[in-house]
Order: sequence, then structure tokens, then C-alpha cells
Amino acid sequence: GRSPPQTRVARGTTNRFVSLGTTANPMLRILVTGGAGFLGSHLCERLVKDGHDVICLDNFFTSQKTNVTHLLDYPNFELIRHDITVPVFLEVDQIYNLACPAAPGHYQFNPIKTIKTSVLGSINMLGLAKRCGGRILQASTSEVYGDPEVHPQPESYRGSVSPIGIRACYDEGKRVAETLFMDYHRYNNVDVRIVRIFNTYGPRMHPFDGRVVSNFIRQALAGEPITIFGEGTQTRSFCYRDDLIEGIIRLMNCEDGFIGPANIGNQDEYTIRELAEKVIEISGSKSTLTTEPLPADDPTRRQPDITLAKKHLNWSPTTDLATGLAKTIEWFRTINLDDYRPPTP
Ligand code: NAD
Ligand code: UDP
Repeated sequence: GRSPPQTRVARGTTNRFVSLGTTANPMLRILVTGGAGFLGSHLCERLVKDGHDVICLDNFFTSQKTNVTHLLDYPNFELIRHDITVPVFLEVDQIYNLACPAAPGHYQFNPIKTIKTSVLGSINMLGLAKRCGGRILQASTSEVYGDPEVHPQPESYRGSVSPIGIRACYDEGKRVAETLFMDYHRYNNVDVRIVRIFNTYGPRMHPFDGRVVSNFIRQALAGEPITIFGEGTQTRSFCYRDDLIEGIIRLMNCEDGFIGPANIGNQDEYTIRELAEKVIEISGSKSTLTTEPLPADDPTRRQPDITLAKKHLNWSPTTDLATGLAKTIEWFRTINLDDYRPPTP
């Protein structure tokens, strides 16, 4: 149908057999796909502690089951091993669609599977949301802006992405996912939200994901040379995971008609060389810097314009890079890297 989109409360409640929670603080049945991953596991933790009935769904492609085993003791948490490229039959009120490898090394490992996860996975999850009358949030990415010609990037910027490069399986997959979300919204009245996540880091990020923060911290703690790709003049803006989780929960529950896309990220922009120096300083490492070739299609700069998130979600990040890095470095000191090391071929 083509009638105007309505809110979740107004429809789609027929599948609710029992009323959970209270009117003031309703308990929702929430599905988190990719829920065992870095961001997903923190989101699950937060939602479980807020008293919601949480289903974590993951195929463990890039995550460890141990990221969520501590939640298994909660009666309002359950874990399903499933791949979102295949439909799943559940009854839920909200879906956070986070399932997708996020680090370049992970998403390029099997690029076809990556794009299937974004495209078929989104279709399956949107179909589920449509059937349940639930609200669904897509974890999109700053990568939809590609190598941006506009700086900082507002949501209105349409991006500069190569459709045939080695990052396209991720960038273009996420762009199609946004298209699907907006079309299910306009054509099927599905209640959608889209968040564009900028580089996020923190404890429980995969130590071997090959991304800059995890590489630099691992190298600094081992006293190994820190690998700067290219000149190290390219920039990124790093958001601490707790700020990110708060932002996406606010977007999911925003009731002023704003559905996104919403940039969520930290506006403090650093060159990669500055990041390396900060990691060395905070960890007290004696590591030196070494350079390696810049990967293809590596964006030269990236900084979110968060005007919309400030306005509609009353959100802005509160953790600066030094504080967030200190917490992340502490966590890296506590883990046994062998528990995460990828198998050698
Ligand atoms: P992550 O790799 O830790 O988490 C992704 C999770 O999805 C993993 O647990 C993985 O096993 C699971 N997964 C992958 N393919 C799946 C499939 N087909 N079916 C079921 N589960 C599957 O990465 P993350 O950093 O937690 O990212 C979560 C989401 O946020 C992703 O969608 C990512 O694209 C997005 N994002 C993250 C960042 C960031 O800086 N961390 C930036 C932009 C966007
Ligand atoms: N990078 C680097 N050394 C590393 C890993 C990454 O200099 O060991 C650079 C990379 O080339 C990019 C930036 O750091 O310019 C961020 O890379 P990452 O893979 O973390 O994320 P993305 O490129 O997706 O933002």
C-alpha cells in the first residue's frame, strides 16, 4: 500500500500475545543481527540491562561467541547461530541490522558474501520487519561517502564511490541496503532508521581485524614497528563505542519523524600519523614508525557533520580520543591474543 508511513505503536501489534513491561517503560522484543560482533555485543549488553527481551543473531564470521557468553545467564537474552542471507522466522518489535563484516580485511576476504550479506540480508530483515510491523535500523557507514570531495560530510552529500574497486563489495552493498530501506519505507510503510557509522573503536574490537586502531595498539604493546600505510597524512575521526551505541539507540527510539540517514561519529579528526603517536604515548611504547604502501581506494579524509544527530537526537560524543584509547589499550593488555589469532593457512 501507499498510505503514509505510520509509527510502530499504531500498527503491527497483532502478533503480541502478552504485554511485557509497563506502559511507562515498555519491554520490547529486540533482534540484533551481528549481535556477537564488536558493536553488536555492546548493544546487546545495553539492551539486556535496560530490561528488553533480546535476541542476538550471528553466524560468527568475524566474531567470537565469547563476546556474548556472559549474557547467557540473563533470562531476557538468547543467542541464535544463523546467517541473514537466509530468511528467519521470529516475532520482534525492533531490529538492529548490524550483521556485516566491517573491517577491510574481513569484508574483502569473501567480497561476494559481503555484498550478499548487505543485499539479501537487508531484504530478509526488512521482510521480517514488514511481517511483524516492527521498526528496523540499518547500520550503514561513512563508506557510503567513498573518498569524499565534500568535507566534513553531511548526510546530503551523495558520495564518491568506485563501483568496481576493492572496497565496493562493502560500500556499494551498504548503499544498496540504504536504497532497500528507503523503498520498503516508502512502498511498504516499514518503519525504518538508517545510521551512518564513522570509524568506531573500543574494548572488544577484533584485535586482528587489520584496522588501524587494533593494528597500532597491538604493535605498540608488542614493541613492534607501527605500520603507517602511505604517508599517514590521510585522516579519520574516531568514535568511542559507548558514544556510538548511545547514538544508535537514540535514533532507533526517535519519535520526531526523523528516520535518518544520521551520521554518528566523533568530529575530532586526526591524521593516521597523529593516531600512531597518540597510541605510542598513551601505551608508553618504544615502537618506531614504519611505512607500507597505501591500499587502493583508501579515502584521504573523513569527518562527520553531526548537525542532524545534535538536532534530532540531542546527541554528541562525550569521549575524547585519549580517554577512549586509554580504555581500549587497557583491554588489549588483559586479553590473550591467541584466543583471537586467525588460523594460519
Ligand atoms: P564486527 O565484524 O565485529 O560485527 C559484525 C558481526 O556480523 C559479526 O559478529 C559477524 O560474525 C556478523 N555477521 C557477518 N556476516 C553475517 C551474516 N551473513 N549473517 C549473520 N551474521 C553475520 O563489526 P562491527 O564493527 O561490530 O560492525 C557492526 C556493524 O556496524 C556492521 O554492519 C558494520 O558495517 C557497521 N559499521 C561499523 C563501523 C566501525 O567502525 N566499527 C563503521 C561503520 C559501520
Ligand atoms: N592504516 C594504516 N596502518 C594500518 C592499518 C590501517 O596506516 O596498520 C590506515 C588505512 O590505510 C586507512 C586508515 O588507517 O587510511 C584507516 O584504516 P581502517 O582499515 O582502520 O579503516 P577505514 O579505511 O575503513 O576507515
